Amino acid sequence: MLRPDGRLSLDLDPIDHGPKDACGVFGVFAPSEDVAQLTYYGLFALQHRGQESAGIAVSTGERITVFKDMGLVSQVFDEATLTSLRGRLGIGHTRYSTTGASVWHNAQPTFRATRNGGLALAHNGNLTNTHELESWLRELDPDQRVPEKKTMDSTNDTSLVTALMSSFGTEPIEQVAMKVLPRLRGAFCLTFINETTLFAARDPQGVRPLVLGRLATGWVVASETAALDIVGASFIREVEPGEFIAIDEAGLRSQRFAEARPKGCLFEYVYLARPDTTIAGRSVHATRVEIGRILAREHPVEADLVIPTPDSGTPSAVGYAEASGIPFGLGLVKNAYVGRTFIQPSQTIRQLGIRLKLNPLKEVIAGKRLVVVDDSIVRGNTQRALVRMLREAGAKQVHVRISSPPVEWPCFYGIDFATRAELIAPGLGVDEICRSLGADSLGYISLDALTEATHRPAAELCRACFDGRYPIAVPKGQAELLHLEEK
Ligand code: SF4
Repeated sequence: MLRPDGRLSLDLDPIDHGPKDACGVFGVFAPSEDVAQLTYYGLFALQHRGQESAGIAVSTGERITVFKDMGLVSQVFDEATLTSLRGRLGIGHTRYSTTGASVWHNAQPTFRATRNGGLALAHNGNLTNTHELESWLRELDPDQRVPEKKTMDSTNDTSLVTALMSSFGTEPIEQVAMKVLPRLRGAFCLTFINETTLFAARDPQGVRPLVLGRLATGWVVASETAALDIVGASFIREVEPGEFIAIDEAGLRSQRFAEARPKGCLFEYVYLARPDTTIAGRSVHATRVEIGRILAREHPVEADLVIPTPDSGTPSAVGYAEASGIPFGLGLVKNAYVGRTFIQPSQTIRQLGIRLKLNPLKEVIAGKRLVVVDDSIVRGNTQRALVRMLREAGAKQVHVRISSPPVEWPCFYGIDFATRAELIAPGLGVDEICRSLGADSLGYISLDALTEATHRPAAELCRACFDGRYPIAVPKGQAELLHLEEK
């Protein structure tokens, strides 16, 4: 489908798309380095967290410059643009839209002039109390009332935070943040800058990951440890849930704006985070391999070959093969770039469906009883097409194994699965889903076993999309999420 910007065809594959993460954020304070380049490479490592738009804001110490556009990091920035972004500190953002449409003015970082100078801000997550925050914004600054559209330079919840931060007159931004942050509800990892200082904050539940790293001559904050690795920063620690950090010439200052009540997103381990990232001291790759081993014990089957759905199913398929003794093989080839084309596909191309993304290796799978390991089933369309494609390529049997439990509930904390009505799991038993997919058997890992594989206690995890227990109050239905869009 053509997006509202008229350029990017994200839904080229008409069959389905996987869960879409909200965003990736990055921040750097390194006066003697090329911060725009560091941010560019940091965003490159976080591209999987958001592929609709990308942006960088840098500050020279006196002036902030923002550059953002629709598209992948490599499409938005070129050598000339990066060279023009001179600064001592900066932030960057890769975006998927969960609140607010996928259009240019919703790309981040957002920018706003305050009475103390500029403020550029980037956000990963999703706020659940936007009505309340909007009312507060009007109380703080009655001028914000008329007309609404003019005061909110975009419809996303991030702009609301930026507007709030700039509504406290001449108060220093560090003090302002300590007033605003405790009022935010939902999932948020923020990186923001004024002319001189890099700031970072993480919600009290720590739903989304945010880490702190050290360069030889500066500091880095990023959504994932993999982004620290790519810019040569060493991992220092996670930004604590409920922590607010400021970094400037004077060094790093940390304050707590709320007590930590950890509820890390379980789905980060299954699908969202890069395998080479570490969350709460546990490697995502090691967790996924362990999930595969457990899956083999929970759902054994006689078969000739274990194949992954690339790429996120790969570590669990390795684990499944290892624990079951069934050989591992690559039966599907993935085209990593096709979903990000600028050309709207013709009807003929769209009918190819899943083949745009995955192509079977006939000589590997023909005549075999296959175990296919995938990370999750959202609507089921992808897996249905996959099973059909594998049978057409000559597979004798297709046994589907899923490295997460059935996705039964939507996410309000920054992941776009689908509405509950679009999910396949609610109301259907595993056998019915198996029949609907056309598979010979279907097995999901149990929620307890998945939790065990993360090495974190269930009490410290959000598992709401699997069990419906939301650790942060959610808006009634989708109304709150859509509220800002309705104006
Ligand atoms: S609902 Fe699911 S995807 Fe959303 S934060 Fe909780 S575990 Fe993660």
